[in-house]
Amino acid sequence: MSTPLIELRDIRKAYGGIDTPLVEVVRGISLAIHPGEFVAIVGASGSGKSTLMNILGCLDRPTSGEYYFAGKDVAMLDSDELAWLRREAFGFVFQGYHLIASGSAQENVEMPAIYAGTPAAERHARAAALLDRLGLASRTANRPHQLSGGQQQRVSIARALMNGGHIILADEPTGALDSQSGAEVMALLDELASQGHVVILITHDREVAARAQRVIEIRDGLVVNDSANEQAPPPTSHPGLQAEDLRQRLDRGATESGAWKGELLEALQAAWRVMWINRFRTALTLLGIVIGVASVVVMLAVGEGSKRQVMAQMAAFGSNILYLSGKSATLREPAGLITLDEVAALSGLPQVKMIMPVIGNKMMARHGNNNGSFYVGGNNTYFPEIFNWPVVEGAFFTEADEQSAAAVAVIGQKVRDKLFGPQANALGRYILIENVPFQVLGVLQGKGASSGSEDSDERIVVPYSAAAIRLFGSRDPEYITIAAADSRRVKETEAAIDHLMRKLHNGKQDYELTNDAALIQAEARTQNTLSLMLGSIAAISLLVGGIGVMNIMLMTVRERTREIGIRMATGARQRDILRQFLTEAVLLSMVGGVTGIALAVLIGGGLLLANIAVAFSLGAVLGAFACAVITGVVFGFMPARKAARLDPVKALTSE
Ligand code: ADP
Ligand code: MG
Repeated sequence: MSTPLIELRDIRKAYGGIDTPLVEVVRGISLAIHPGEFVAIVGASGSGKSTLMNILGCLDRPTSGEYYFAGKDVAMLDSDELAWLRREAFGFVFQGYHLIASGSAQENVEMPAIYAGTPAAERHARAAALLDRLGLASRTANRPHQLSGGQQQRVSIARALMNGGHIILADEPTGALDSQSGAEVMALLDELASQGHVVILITHDREVAARAQRVIEIRDGLVVNDSANEQAPPPTSHPGLQAEDLRQRLDRGATESGAWKGELLEALQAAWRVMWINRFRTALTLLGIVIGVASVVVMLAVGEGSKRQVMAQMAAFGSNILYLSGKSATLREPAGLITLDEVAALSGLPQVKMIMPVIGNKMMARHGNNNGSFYVGGNNTYFPEIFNWPVVEGAFFTEADEQSAAAVAVIGQKVRDKLFGPQANALGRYILIENVPFQVLGVLQGKGASSGSEDSDERIVVPYSAAAIRLFGSRDPEYITIAAADSRRVKETEAAIDHLMRKLHNGKQDYELTNDAALIQAEARTQNTLSLMLGSIAAISLLVGGIGVMNIMLMTVRERTREIGIRMATGARQRDILRQFLTEAVLLSMVGGVTGIALAVLIGGGLLLANIAVAFSLGAVLGAFACAVITGVVFGFMPARKAARLDPVKALTSE
């Protein structure tokens, strides 16, 4: 006789034992089932039939005893090989149908083939053909709740046949059906048996059992009668399948990995369906990620925007400008003085292109009834060039004006607007600065820049000599502005100036040399710190979002435990389940990420309208998106692993 397909030797299964009394439900069952058999296992409710069937179908392991599948000891198989058996050798039909509620009939039937890695076109065609054969051609798109019990059971039979269904395990398949549908399902099983499928039918109904060739009766976990012992053995040379074939395929097939592309697509579709069904809950949970991603992107855009603004200012003021001013050498001494003679000496340095003493203060200026407080500076004729600040109306004062300490002034745009009225012609007219009359020669270009409360357009420029004599009563400059000859050699220029100054001041360091570039860079650094701080706030909200994802995934795993059981019964490997739920977590956070980016763009637009500089960078957007995806993977992993490690039977029988 050929190898039996299934051979059980003294199989036992006990439940409980730790805090509940140990109950042995299957108490030593030995039997063999050969290819081509149609077996009914009959017994009263509670006699252990379902327990036995779960062991037969490799959904559960016995407590003791041996189970040989096609001559191979099942106890030696790993979880992937068991999944292969469930996928390729068995086809389950349950009393409660066990269809996935969110999938259509077609999708439910295709599921085992997805895990087997069958190409999509072949899968679609085969599922459609099976549904057609079972009289459900017009119901392929219906979801389980849109089908009658009999139709659902036929869908589950089609699913059992999807990968071949060599051994159909049917546990009370007619139990929940009316007699008409029940008869149809039985007729189907009959037909399958006659086509060479091994059918193992579990029932409490003797009449139903009588349809089978062989009836095994169990009572209290023991076989009390087996009709095979009375009759001649069934034909073993069935043209269908032989145990040997299945064993060889198991040896080859279990190590194959499925087609991940098909599975990924299916996982994505399933994930999207679940998200859509629970969209309100999903949306709430995703707020964390949305806010996190949006704030990361907006922060970085604002930071980058203001940095660029600073850079632009730096270009406007010129980075080759140095400032020289007096400073106390020690705490007790007064600040050193820099004299005009020293200015003359410094101007002789080859590294110095232009040098300009500055004296200035806030002063009252008046024209007619209009007055205002403006910064009045005594500068020389280098002013427009050093500050890159040209005159747009009239002209700047000349060297002759400087020599003669002429009472002339060049005024900023806002000074003109305040004293003469907007756009009014001020040229040639007189203003009183601290009651000293000055004639307006020109108007400076508007800078639009301001630092603190100072507005650079509220400025009046007069010749240094005139300021010293007529306004300040002092000839010593407040500080000196120096333009280096080469903006790439500011450091060398600084060194040369320092060297000369030290000599002039007899080695005493009672002066200070600074430059614009350094100041602006310091400002940019502060801004970097600020965006770092804001960035960490964003990171925290991403973390919160990640915890939300973990929470929702734990919830979904709990809610869909039965679905996980169904997937396992139809042959999903642990890694398939892991991948499924990880895909869901990643999709979830990707949706959060995209929404966050969209929100960020909206906020950015609003800020731009409010005249706040923003500069979106592709790097920031991609980085934030990647963060969201990583969040999904990291926080989705634990729930997904939990799902993958569920026990198939426990999952299937959960509420
Ligand atoms: P049948 O399918 O023949 O009605 P089952 O195999 O479902 O019987 O159950 C047999 C016995 O095992 C029942 O008395 C049931 O209470 C018990 N049983 C089944 N599953 C469990 C379990 N997970 N834990 C404890 N007892 C169980
Ligand atoms: Mg049962």
